[in-house]
Amino acid sequence: MRETQILVIGGSLIGLTSSLLLSSLGVEHILVDRRPHTSDHPRARLYDRRTLELLRRFGVHHDVEATGIGDLWTRQNRWIESLAGKDVASVPTESFQMAPAEYSPSIPVMGAQDMIEETLWKAAREQAPADVRFYTSAEDLTQDAGGCSATLIDRETGDGEPIRAQYVIAADGVHSATRDQIGCSLDENSFNFYLQDILFHADLSRWVGNRMGGLMFIFTSYGMGVYQPMDGATRWRVQLPGWDPNRGDLTMQEAHDYIVEAVGVDESELDLEVVSIRPWNFIAGLSEHFSNGRVFLAGDAAHAFIPTGGMGSNTGFSGAHNLCWKLAYVLQGHSPTSLLDTYEQEHRPIAERRVRLSIENANLAGAIGQAYRTGGDMAQAEINCHQYGSYEGMIMGYEYQSELCQVDHDPPPYVENEHRDFIPVVRSGRRAPHAWLDPHRKLSTLDWFGTDYVVMLCQDEHEGWQSAVNGYRHRGFPIRIEQMRHAANTPYAESEAVVVRPDGVIATHTTKSDSRAPEELLAQFLPLS
Ligand SMILES: Cc1cc2nc3c(=O)[nH]c(=O)nc-3n(C[C@H](O)[C@H](O)[C@H](O)COP(=O)(O)OP(=O)(O)OC[C@H]3O[C@@H](n4cnc5c(N)ncnc54)[C@H](O)[C@@H]3O)c2cc1C
Repeated sequence: MRETQILVIGGSLIGLTSSLLLSSLGVEHILVDRRPHTSDHPRARLYDRRTLELLRRFGVHHDVEATGIGDLWTRQNRWIESLAGKDVASVPTESFQMAPAEYSPSIPVMGAQDMIEETLWKAAREQAPADVRFYTSAEDLTQDAGGCSATLIDRETGDGEPIRAQYVIAADGVHSATRDQIGCSLDENSFNFYLQDILFHADLSRWVGNRMGGLMFIFTSYGMGVYQPMDGATRWRVQLPGWDPNRGDLTMQEAHDYIVEAVGVDESELDLEVVSIRPWNFIAGLSEHFSNGRVFLAGDAAHAFIPTGGMGSNTGFSGAHNLCWKLAYVLQGHSPTSLLDTYEQEHRPIAERRVRLSIENANLAGAIGQAYRTGGDMAQAEINCHQYGSYEGMIMGYEYQSELCQVDHDPPPYVENEHRDFIPVVRSGRRAPHAWLDPHRKLSTLDWFGTDYVVMLCQDEHEGWQSAVNGYRHRGFPIRIEQMRHAANTPYAESEAVVVRPDGVIATHTTKSDSRAPEELLAQFLPLS
């Protein structure tokens, strides 16, 4: 029987990213996806700054950025009567904007999932020790005290191969069969949202002009349609949310007529090709648990989102980032299996908050349309909707709470709006801040993180850190020192040492006046076997 360390079920955004993470950590694994190839429909579109920081680690960030629609499209969402008609409202979307920020080496990307999946798939299958197999499904998953068993079915030949894995990552999507197999369901407060998702080609530049928007909400007799540029040129998608399933799915002709109405011109003026229609039942909710024994849920299998605010796949990326190094450390004997409990402990509150926000966003976007139709307070509705695309505090400033991170008793720096505003700060449980390490702005502090624990020494003088780190290295624990040469004028200016986990999260930190011994701090916060 073929044996592997990890079986990854699902080769979409989160499965492929897990594969890249596991390869970089030297974990042997097999990834299977039952589809013959990656998506042909765009699906998720927004990849936030923190996700791009993760993808930077695999060197695929430039390819992902190249799929993006650019800065001009992503500055705001717009509400309009028809493309040829008048503007109704616009709301700035700072967190969608494909523009650099001082506090990160990365920019967010608004691009099409099919193109990004393909980039990740190409990168994942080139990495050793990954075995990436498409058109292969994982069936009959069971687990016992020593590992997991499954059969991999080659869907072309029908042949089945029994397999044994020490752990399973199930990134098998919102309708995850693995979630059912491990006895979990999505929580009772799940929110359902049926829509029609239409992909089409048309040159709309004449009517859009300079009224570009990442999302363009257009009112028609079919209800509100959310128009979304896919390549900033002629590839578009429109979603019709709140579609009544009893009405039946749109036909290609109906989709065509609907788009003509939304553009607001005579049919003869528009060269339009409807490519595909995907009805989709969006669900927002969390799985009761994110794991059971040796099986871990990731991405939509663990937490499902409605698309408002573009948080679904990004929450999946951050979950995989949290999980994969922990599996590697346990498999490699550096850490006890209890380390794996911290995946749900740390990631669940983040996912919970974002699921709530995605539902709130749907209501806030809907309220603009409502105010317009009923002559309500448009200005207030626009202000309320600002949270939809402006959430740097939420994506960059979240704080994990578990025994892996020290509790910092000082309050975090004051911000007017915790959801919107982000101030990079050295604080346990948070992402270690970015600072450029070279004058050419090529190498970031973030590039130090990925496989080892890193002790960043931020002053010229430091007592005892070298010998404490050497002690753990001799025991085989993956930890090393990096010296910050120019910490002044960075968030690290007041720090003496900052201990950072492989996922770039601060475990503990000291200042110059700290009297705690490095040896003791490491003993407390390293996940040692
Ligand atoms: C029509 C549509 C429109 C969407 N629009 C948006 C949007 O506008 N914004 C947004 O944020 N999100 C959107 N989404 C959701 C977004 O695509 C998901 O959040 C994202 O793909 C999650 O990635 P994932 O890897 O967790 O799961 P998925 O992308 O669902 O991937 C799961 C994979 O598992 C594979 N699989 C399942 N079972 C098995 C098995 N037994 N063996 C082998 N393989 C298996 C499937 O083939 C699939 O490829 C949309 C989804 C759809 C379908």
